[in-house]
Amino acid sequence: MQHLEALTREAAALANGDIDTIGASGLHGLLPLTADEEEVARTLQICNACRYCEGFCAVFPAMTRRLEFPKADIHYLANLCHNCGACYHACQYAPPHEFAVNIPQAMAKVRVQTYGDFAFPAVLGGLYRRAGMTVALALAGGLVLFLLMVLAMRGSLWHAPLAGNFYAIFPHNLLAAMFGAVFLFAMLALGIGVTRFWRQVTPGTRDGESHGAAAGGAAHDALRLKYLDGGHGKGCNNDDDAFTLLRRRFHHFTFYGFMLCFAATTVATLYHYLLDLHAPYPVTSVPVLLGIAGGIGLLIGPAGLLWLNLRRDPKTMDAAQKPMDRGFIALLLLTSASGLALLAFRDTGAMAALLAIHLGIVMALFATLPYGKFAHGIFRSAALLKFHIEKRRPADLALGSD
Ligand code: SF4
Ligand code: SF4
Repeated sequence: MQHLEALTREAAALANGDIDTIGASGLHGLLPLTADEEEVARTLQICNACRYCEGFCAVFPAMTRRLEFPKADIHYLANLCHNCGACYHACQYAPPHEFAVNIPQAMAKVRVQTYGDFAFPAVLGGLYRRAGMTVALALAGGLVLFLLMVLAMRGSLWHAPLAGNFYAIFPHNLLAAMFGAVFLFAMLALGIGVTRFWRQVTPGTRDGESHGAAAGGAAHDALRLKYLDGGHGKGCNNDDDAFTLLRRRFHHFTFYGFMLCFAATTVATLYHYLLDLHAPYPVTSVPVLLGIAGGIGLLIGPAGLLWLNLRRDPKTMDAAQKPMDRGFIALLLLTSASGLALLAFRDTGAMAALLAIHLGIVMALFATLPYGKFAHGIFRSAALLKFHIEKRRPADLALGSD
């Protein structure tokens, strides 16, 4: 009923050319379903009658609160799925059955479409499908080459040991301005993208409702990667129908490695501006220890994820997304490997070259952050928040006394 009223309101506004009333997300919702969205809607109708997979993940409880699947709900559910593959291997209607139910693959295709649909700026939305391993490595290689050439022209490619003083090579303010600008743009683009997504799928706020507990629940699930345990604690499927917790473990190494590296940079920034303590810092200092721990996490996690990705059952994947997944993993691996090498050889004459290599790779990582796999974590967290808000409400479906 609510959907019908919303559609009537939007149709009337559209007829009057009242774009403000419709809003960007409303307009988006009026578009016809794409072929991939139709496939998700078709298979979810079958699942909704079957419900065998109810305990596997958040998608199925969210699905059972609906009888039909308009565009916004398909986008929401596609981002709630994390492609664990469990429901494919459990499904009695999977191919070669004539129903051909393949939820992980159908969801994956819509998921990447949503990243592009809500991208900022819109013109860069196509990068999600095109910015794969080749683009990531070409960008990193180009930036590294550029920085090496700058050093070579200045005659500082090889130098006497500088006791790890990076700023003797590239001034602190130059680095802060360059990386700050690219990182802020990446955060802005991701923020606008996920806000557009949220405006489309938002459950809104009802009288007397607070979203604090829901936000806590969503953060808990996201940080623990709760649903990568397959709903039964044995893990998800990767190569075949055997369960494995490796994907969860490697995701954790990657995520917490990234956060530790971020913490290392934050602490170093505070040292620099608040305490007037300037790099290089000793190996036993807080920023360096955080950086070492983060770098090791970012070596183990992405290496493991790449290994799993190469062995992954292609039937549960969207083949078109492999380059995007692997491009992001490759940049993370190169970032940590080059960062640790820089730390190990910072007291030698190779520091400038290693610094140029590391900075070029990090710059490529930041620049591609909003248009690659990183978006999955942001959109999925928003979908989990909606799931936790909905779950605290009574079901809207009125199916009769039973
Ligand atoms: S994926 Fe298959 S087994 Fe699972 S709920 Fe859907 S139809 Fe049923
Ligand atoms: S693939 Fe995994 S996360 Fe996605 S719907 Fe199936 S069981 Fe849920």
